[in-house]
Amino acid sequence: MLEQRQQPPVPATVARMDEIAESLRRVSQRIDEHNAHRNPEALTSARIAKLAEEVGETSAAWLGTTGMNPRKGYTHTRGAVKAEALDVAVTALALWEHLDGNRGRVLNSLAEHVRYLDERGLESAIGAREARPDVRHEGSRAELIELLNQQAEGWHHLANDRLQREALDGAAKLEAGDSSVQVENTVYEVTDVDSTPPPTAWSGASGEAPITAGGCTHVVDR
Ligand SMILES: [Mg+2]
Repeated sequence: MLEQRQQPPVPATVARMDEIAESLRRVSQRIDEHNAHRNPEALTSARIAKLAEEVGETSAAWLGTTGMNPRKGYTHTRGAVKAEALDVAVTALALWEHLDGNRGRVLNSLAEHVRYLDERGLESAIGAREARPDVRHEGSRAELIELLNQQAEGWHHLANDRLQREALDGAAKLEAGDSSVQVENTVYEVTDVDSTPPPTAWSGASGEAPITAGGCTHVVDR
């Protein structure tokens, strides 16, 4: 008989975030309290030096994994490198807590920073694409609407609401009868002359050619 497993009401990782934040705050505060008699700038310098030390340990563990040093041989495992990488992460987060007065806010800041980096990476990708020549997709109205809807879903998964909206708007315009739309630097050009609207014409209700994924032509203008 199969064992029935109940899902916890809240994912464990989410439920533990506050605990992790509090642990990081305690770790940092403990170090600060232990060194409270020292010059504050010297203490901060030491916290930064500690971060550099952990980075060095990560490098040493990797070298020990590769066996590059003939005198030492294979002294570490990949797991040891991963453990040192976590030491780097925790030391950096604790340093942030120290600089923020040990108020337990580092994970909030981390979440914001990760989101910022993610969005900036996406914007860079868009910028790189803008620097390239225009891309043109040619195909039937149904194929291009399908393609734009797929791309809208992709942008949704990448949390880019603007491009998701533009792709959906483009699909709607094609559906309404436009023969060409542009989303960012990509032009979608309807090349089949028989697929004029109304919108139901491509939905399969009137004998329109079926949607074939990936059937449209992809053209790069030079
Ligand atoms: Mg270490």
